[in-house]
Amino acid sequence: MRPAEIDQRLAEAGYSLHLTDKSRYLYHMAQRLLACGGWDALYTPYMTRLWLNAGVRKGKAYTLAELRQIAQPREAEETFLYEMRLWVSGAIFKRGVRFKCDRCALEQNHPTQALSDPLICDGCQSPLIVPLDVPFAFTPNPLFCIGMANGMLTLLRVLWRLTQEAADGVWVGGVLIEKEGGPQVEVDLLYLTGETLHMIEAKDALPESAAIQMQLLQYKALADEIGGVCTLAALPTLPPDLSAWCADWGIAVLAG
Ligand SMILES: [Zn+2]
Repeated sequence: MRPAEIDQRLAEAGYSLHLTDKSRYLYHMAQRLLACGGWDALYTPYMTRLWLNAGVRKGKAYTLAELRQIAQPREAEETFLYEMRLWVSGAIFKRGVRFKCDRCALEQNHPTQALSDPLICDGCQSPLIVPLDVPFAFTPNPLFCIGMANGMLTLLRVLWRLTQEAADGVWVGGVLIEKEGGPQVEVDLLYLTGETLHMIEAKDALPESAAIQMQLLQYKALADEIGGVCTLAALPTLPPDLSAWCADWGIAVLAG
């Protein structure tokens, strides 16, 4: 999770690195996506829509038809189904069955392993009468819900592309970097390939320009000290004045 090469590079410039919960979320999300072969699916417009949906991010259970409605894959329907299958196989979505209790009206989702009678209602605790015929419902893995809530969609997309372009790279994300006695700077992603150290700030949404500029200047100063390339990756298209500002300051821009 923590490549020695990156620690060494930072130490040479007098800096140290600290992992946070975010480092762990990012690492394990990447591992899961890699293991099931479904990482590139995050890069499609329909899967982006899926993960930007408030209900999905909150971990609600949806039937396949509902997920399709949210994602709107349109002509990419077959690819969407194939990718959902990969994600279910990788437990990025967990298969269950959703139904409503006759007594207390609570809608609930039960994992498929737990469906033999008798089943107890999560709400009123009485035995549930499970309908004979219900469609599966899919609940997003809580790891992905919390990761996405921490703004890691763009980060995962950029990381996937970097691993494609420079497969020899090593990385760590969601870290705090500090020089002894100095302030801690939060860095979304450090990606080291050869001698090039990318220092990436990833944004799923753009705050107002003044706030992001202040953050980027701090980032850029740190990048200069550790000999890194300071990069802004954003899911929305940057407004032209912010693009121009980044170019003036030598900050690279990547489409999220
Ligand atoms: Zn009930």
